[in-house]
Amino acid sequence: INRNRFSTAAAVEELITPQVSINYTQHLINGQFVDAASGKTFPTYDPRTGEVIAQVAEGDAEDINRAVSAAREAFDNGPWPKMTAYERCRILLRFADLVEKHNDEIAALESWNNGKLYEQAAKAELPMFVRLFRYYAGWADKIHGLTVPADGDYHVQTLHEPIGVAGQIIPWNFPLLMFAWKVGPALACGNTIVLKTAEQTPLTALVVAKLLHEAGLPPGVLNIVSGYGPTAGAPLASHMDVDKLAFTGSTDTGKTVLELAARSNLKPVTLELGGKSPFIVCEDADVNKAVEIAHFALFFNQGQCCCAGSRTFVHERIYDEFLEKSKERALRRVVGDPFKKGVEQGPQIDSKQFEKVLRYIKSGIDSNATLECGGGRLGSKGFFVQPTVFSNVQDDMLIAKDEIFGPVQTILKFKDIDEVIRRANATRYGLAAGVFTKNVSTANTMMRALRAGTVWINCFDVFDAAIPFGGYKMSGIGREKGIYSLHNYLQVKAVVSPLNNPAWL
Ligand code: NAD
Repeated sequence: INRNRFSTAAAVEELITPQVSINYTQHLINGQFVDAASGKTFPTYDPRTGEVIAQVAEGDAEDINRAVSAAREAFDNGPWPKMTAYERCRILLRFADLVEKHNDEIAALESWNNGKLYEQAAKAELPMFVRLFRYYAGWADKIHGLTVPADGDYHVQTLHEPIGVAGQIIPWNFPLLMFAWKVGPALACGNTIVLKTAEQTPLTALVVAKLLHEAGLPPGVLNIVSGYGPTAGAPLASHMDVDKLAFTGSTDTGKTVLELAARSNLKPVTLELGGKSPFIVCEDADVNKAVEIAHFALFFNQGQCCCAGSRTFVHERIYDEFLEKSKERALRRVVGDPFKKGVEQGPQIDSKQFEKVLRYIKSGIDSNATLECGGGRLGSKGFFVQPTVFSNVQDDMLIAKDEIFGPVQTILKFKDIDEVIRRANATRYGLAAGVFTKNVSTANTMMRALRAGTVWINCFDVFDAAIPFGGYKMSGIGREKGIYSLHNYLQVKAVVSPLNNPAWL
């Protein structure tokens, strides 16, 4: 057990850090914390400094095998599937209460390992995590099939059954929320799980999983393996005894895991992938409000959101004013220690993402977009990037096509609605879109024409447990959250029997 303490020296007055320690760094398999089969560990970092904060068990195919066996046994022979749905519901509710009780420590660990704002983790993400588990607890005892009207003298019904062992692979940008989006519905439906966390952020999932066991989850129902994608994620995606795969991450890796799933046992796959979402500001929009929300849509969570509004389309009549104000806003953005009050932006997750963002900024400059502000690193340690704004961006530039996943706003000019709809849709992605207008008819036209899984009108990044989320095109397959996610974790069985069966007479 690594009891690395958060530096008290750093806890000067304006820092709002609760004391936090790292108590769990091993895999969680069959209800026990265990070392990797190979005995190997890998480092996890504090993105503010790049310093190692803990060594974590490094999983490989053998750990995945052990975790899948535990999940299989728990599904086939354990108490979980035999339990009433109401008992499952109560475990999830008790778990939500426990997480709520430990809100601030868990949020601090999330922030420490990820670099996200502590206040965002404590006041928004943890409460949403709790909300998601309560929401899915509510579904646990409301899952039922149908009586189907069928021709002939048959009684036909459908049973909605858990699918079995779910493999889940999650990314680092919202480690706990991604846990909740996947684990919540899978448990509500009565499945067992092997979860592979992102190598950058392995810590908080282990803490909440411990609380889930305290709440009464039987051993083997949720197993967690830490480790890297090719060595721990790939064996999970291709495992013959995993019945379903849910993945969130990049589109390239999404393709890989889909292929692994297809080549192994053809397990069904849901994918939440990347995006290059348009944020469209029409000429009648309130410019000040639009500037603020467009800024938030891009810069939130250091720009590390799959649905970031990363192509800001602005009508030519308000373009100059919008640009000037967006630049001023970016220059005012407070970058610094995510534990400090008033800070709006922390570090990028790691050196790889940091370098990637800087490469995209260089590509923007090289392709003759106008760098309005930012463009470089901040400070000499950690992975801080200046809030950056590009204007004069053209659709065919790399910065307008690729997911940058960093604090880089690209502003594009448009003339009319038809043109902007066409350009907004001219991408391989289709995760989200934002529209800013006072005209209801423009809003109605746009919400129908935009090919994206979510369209936010005069708002952005509004999430709720009940609102489905997912992508069109190469942004994914399937939907998570809301009632839609239940379908990912259920099998439908049709049962047909004669109304008058001579064999029974
Ligand atoms: P990634 O797709 O490489 O990683 C996501 C998860 O997949 C991690 O748990 C990782 O270990 C795992 N993984 C990686 N390779 C794998 C493989 N061969 N088989 C099975 N699992 C594998 O994403 P990343 O490197 O963390 O980030 C790169 C890009 O992904 C970002 O720049 C961004 O564009 C995108 N991203 C999207 C989201 C999202 O929510 N849609 C989240 C994080 C990252």
